[in-house]
Amino acid sequence: MDARSIREQFPILNQEVNGHPLVYLDSSATSHKPLAVLEAVDAYYRNDNSNVHRGVHTLGTRATDKYEGAREKVQQFINARSTKEVIFTRGTTTAINTVAHSYARANLEPGDEVIITPMEHHSNIIPWQQAVKATGATLKYFELHDDGTLNMEDVKKSIGPQTKIVALTHVSNVLGTINPIKEIVELAHRQNAVVLVDGAQGAPHLKVDVQEIDCDFYCFSGHKMCGPTGIGILYGKQELLEEMEPVEFGGEMIDFVHLYDSTWKELPWKFEGGTPIIAGAIGLGAAIDFLNQIGMDEIEAHDQKLTNYAMKRMREIEGLEIYGPAADKRSAVVTFNINGVHPHDTATALDSMGIAVRAGHHCAQPLMRWLNATATARASMYVYNTEDDIDQLVSGLTRTKEFFG
Ligand code: PLP
Repeated sequence: MDARSIREQFPILNQEVNGHPLVYLDSSATSHKPLAVLEAVDAYYRNDNSNVHRGVHTLGTRATDKYEGAREKVQQFINARSTKEVIFTRGTTTAINTVAHSYARANLEPGDEVIITPMEHHSNIIPWQQAVKATGATLKYFELHDDGTLNMEDVKKSIGPQTKIVALTHVSNVLGTINPIKEIVELAHRQNAVVLVDGAQGAPHLKVDVQEIDCDFYCFSGHKMCGPTGIGILYGKQELLEEMEPVEFGGEMIDFVHLYDSTWKELPWKFEGGTPIIAGAIGLGAAIDFLNQIGMDEIEAHDQKLTNYAMKRMREIEGLEIYGPAADKRSAVVTFNINGVHPHDTATALDSMGIAVRAGHHCAQPLMRWLNATATARASMYVYNTEDDIDQLVSGLTRTKEFFG
């Protein structure tokens, strides 16, 4: 994989920011879009724009074919059994909320437990807080080791007959930790609990095979994997989705509407009320083609190499603390603080040098408290990043430290 030639396919990277060539290290927040994705969205609006599943006219048929074609690409990308198991949503957040509203509220009762981890994004915490409040169930957390990996002894001890849902991230957006989701699914299934995996940071970086993982739900966002914003996926096992009620009602998702009651379309459309995110889905399909062309194994190897390099180089800076596990247990995220420098100051100083990193709580306030930090800075990498970018970051951090020190 040649990140330099891949980079040329991302026009946004070819610009100066504050007088310096842009170094973009914030892909965990959102990734950039290659030309192929921009062109697919543009071509849809230029040539095929129409509503889907409605008209018999040619444009409507083309739009429907492209929209449903994108669903097939997603199905193959994650190896779902059928396109019935692939629901287009607005993103990971909407996908998790759909399960927390529909599956959780129908299946939880007092005495039941939902277990999550302290490394979750708010999108995989708050929907469960709300679901247990609504049903009288209890929310619990697995323990972490000091390096930010899951304590599997605690996971084994905690999952019991009272456990109904386990919801955890595939990859932490702060620590980069890659969780052993397959093993956790096995433990949960022994107790008849279902497992939802937040794949917002997993799907962009790791090869995902939902049949092999055997998870019940897998949720991810297009914009973190070279696709447009506003599109995401809820994968669910067909038998679970069949028994779940929709959460959004209106056009597109109905079969018959009577005066006082209605019936729903079959899967996957019963979960897609209203005009869907047509251009977003088509853009996501193009992003999947783009990632497949490179190969997810290649992407994983590239991420691993870059993460090793970033951690090695960043450790050379005295007084810089890196959070989370060793490079071989994490994805392409390095979260850090320079002693005595507020992460917002670090990010602002780097921005003045054209280097984009994120600073703040990263939508993971409970994890910040676990880390004993109010905020951190985070550099996150993707297919278009190179060792050059890391060298720029390290020299930017060294100058930042000198300036504030
Ligand atoms: N989960 C994780 C681990 C994330 O990193 C994010 C986004 O940063 C989300 C969920 C939410 O994704 P979205 O805002 O696309 O719904």
